[in-house]
Amino acid sequence: ARKEQEGLRDLSAETTDGVSIKLGANIGLLSDMMLARQYGADHIGLYRTEFPFLLRKSFPSEEDQVALYTRVLEKSKGRSVTIRTFDVGGDKFLSYLDYPKEDNPFLGWRSIRLSLDLEDVFRVQIRAILRASALGKTRILFPMISCIDEIRQVVALVNDEKENLDRHGIAYDREIELGIMVEVPAAVPILDRLLRYVDFVNVGTNDLMQYLLAVDRNNKKVAVHFNVLHPAVISTVEQIVSVCRRFNKELCICGEAAAIRESIFLFIGMGADAISMVPSAIPVAKQFIRSVSSADAQTALTACLAMEEAGEIEAYLKERLGP
Ligand code: PEP
Ligand code: MG
Repeated sequence: ARKEQEGLRDLSAETTDGVSIKLGANIGLLSDMMLARQYGADHIGLYRTEFPFLLRKSFPSEEDQVALYTRVLEKSKGRSVTIRTFDVGGDKFLSYLDYPKEDNPFLGWRSIRLSLDLEDVFRVQIRAILRASALGKTRILFPMISCIDEIRQVVALVNDEKENLDRHGIAYDREIELGIMVEVPAAVPILDRLLRYVDFVNVGTNDLMQYLLAVDRNNKKVAVHFNVLHPAVISTVEQIVSVCRRFNKELCICGEAAAIRESIFLFIGMGADAISMVPSAIPVAKQFIRSVSSADAQTALTACLAMEEAGEIEAYLKERLGP
């Protein structure tokens, strides 16, 4: 089995009719880089930087962050690393930050909203990522964007910090790409306009499903409603992929759905460029992609888009894909 896995590691995730899907790893800690490599990730599709923030006793300093991101980039050996700015609040709380008491933290002071309010902390991170970008292919990803104003503010901060580095003669990648997580439903109908400001999109299926279906992603009591094959989820992701294709922006689907066979099949049918998942799920996903054709996936997607409910879609896909 080990030999088989090693053989698979060097093969690309290509469908039987020749469509390549970039397979990414989601990581949180430096130690995950070893797994990403071991399981044959083509890139780091999502580096969740809140993990190092959560483990420390105060906000990590600029030097601390530059050192950390540089090590991640070294370990990626030329493969691109998409670094997401810290995404806290919701269910991830920093011990050293005062939070307001909120009835609905997932709808509250979370993610990009919190980062923009803590501008100094946010600038330090942006500067650290820019500095690390001199040493390897880096992209910056901003979570939970829900309106144009947020992306404008973010782009202004990045440009400001670039000028700041220029003034000090500090190197960074001038062509660094910026991207947004599409994970708040409000971003979907305005995606054509959001794309004017960014180079790429990551779809966060965990939050997108949570907000679209009004189902807490962590609440076991309602877990049965957190269904990746809900027709609204499929149709929303399809819209996102199609807008990105129309505007020629790279797209990567992250979140737990990216590791589920039935949804991978539909993502291929939509024409997604890349998916990213927990490293250990990569070999099975790769084997699966290598066993299906994108033409079949398109046919299946068209059929599923016309169906009424998740059960029907699931039965249809299980029948098509076999055991
Ligand atoms: C997501 O929301 O799907 C995602 C990839 O990000 P996180 O799970 O960190 O919120
Ligand atoms: Mg998310």
